Amino acid sequence: MGGSAVVVGGGIGGLAAAIGLRAVGWEVVVAERAPVLADVGAGISLHANGMRALDALGAGEAVRAAARPQYTGGTRAPGGRWLARMDGTVLERELGTPLVGIPRADLHRALRAALPEGCLRTGAEVRSVDDSDGGRVRVLLTGDGGESATATASSTVTGTEDVLDADLVVAADGVGSRLRHRLFPDYPGPAYSGSTVLRAVTAHPVELRTDFALTWGRGAEFGHIAFRDGRAEWHAVLNAPPGVRPADPLAALRRRFADWHEPVPALLAATRPEAVLHHDIHELTVPLPAFT
Ligand SMILES: Cc1cc2nc3c(=O)[nH]c(=O)nc-3n(C[C@H](O)[C@H](O)[C@H](O)COP(=O)(O)OP(=O)(O)OC[C@H]3O[C@@H](n4cnc5c(N)ncnc54)[C@H](O)[C@@H]3O)c2cc1C
Repeated sequence: MGGSAVVVGGGIGGLAAAIGLRAVGWEVVVAERAPVLADVGAGISLHANGMRALDALGAGEAVRAAARPQYTGGTRAPGGRWLARMDGTVLERELGTPLVGIPRADLHRALRAALPEGCLRTGAEVRSVDDSDGGRVRVLLTGDGGESATATASSTVTGTEDVLDADLVVAADGVGSRLRHRLFPDYPGPAYSGSTVLRAVTAHPVELRTDFALTWGRGAEFGHIAFRDGRAEWHAVLNAPPGVRPADPLAALRRRFADWHEPVPALLAATRPEAVLHHDIHELTVPLPAFT
């Protein structure tokens, strides 16, 4: 029997950690600062190791049901020439599964469904973590409690503040993690990778010919992942300074990729402007110091 844990962050990582901890007997509260779990993100492709991890968590079947196996695809040049082909049947034979493509929102939903009511508390931002006691850790949350229900770590609610005492805190608060900074104050943190990514899911099915493709051009990459319902996620990764935001990103991409092979222009044509997400990509370039 485990103890009690607070997982900070209800993204893919935090939910997976919570399911795994519960499976080995821990009582878990996941604190997520977003007040509402909207259908955010575009698409994720999962390789065999990811699917094995989801199977171990008991979420594999639900994910497979919402995902599309990627049997055909590969890497191309902007004119359409194939640089490398991928055969999903070979991966399936060798590794037990081809790559699968799934909307991030569906993956998140499948993981949420594997947690009991009340385990995930939305609208709950972790403000501080105090481990000076040497034993249990004290976690201070603020927010409106969102869709929260009964907490499993011992909890004291004061107005919009809530204190949870737990044996373990899992920092799953993303690449810009505040808790990482709290644990490793000298660590430099994430650095801009030099690339910015624009992504979206198409508004309707698109004629694709292959389940996925990645096309490499000078200073730019464009990829797509086909979904079960015929729509697709696409992403355009561009070398650019951080913080640059075109006034009309979709129009800028349609110009940038106008002479790339199909289905690149078709995917952009099938996208609504408001569906486009734009993020600068940050990465951890320096290994983290060890915990122990
Ligand atoms: C362009 C691109 C493509 C990618 N494609 C793939 C792919 O195909 N397959 C794949 O497996 N991975 C892919 N990844 C990586 C993958 O998306 C990320 O690694 C993964 O989503 C990170 O999940 P996470 O839970 O660690 O963090 P996040 O998704 O960032 O979640 C962190 C959560 O913590 C919450 N939070 C933050 N601070 C607090 C706080 N103080 N209190 C409470 N909550 C807090 C945030 O609101 C957020 O919900 C891709 C990444 C990029 C950039």
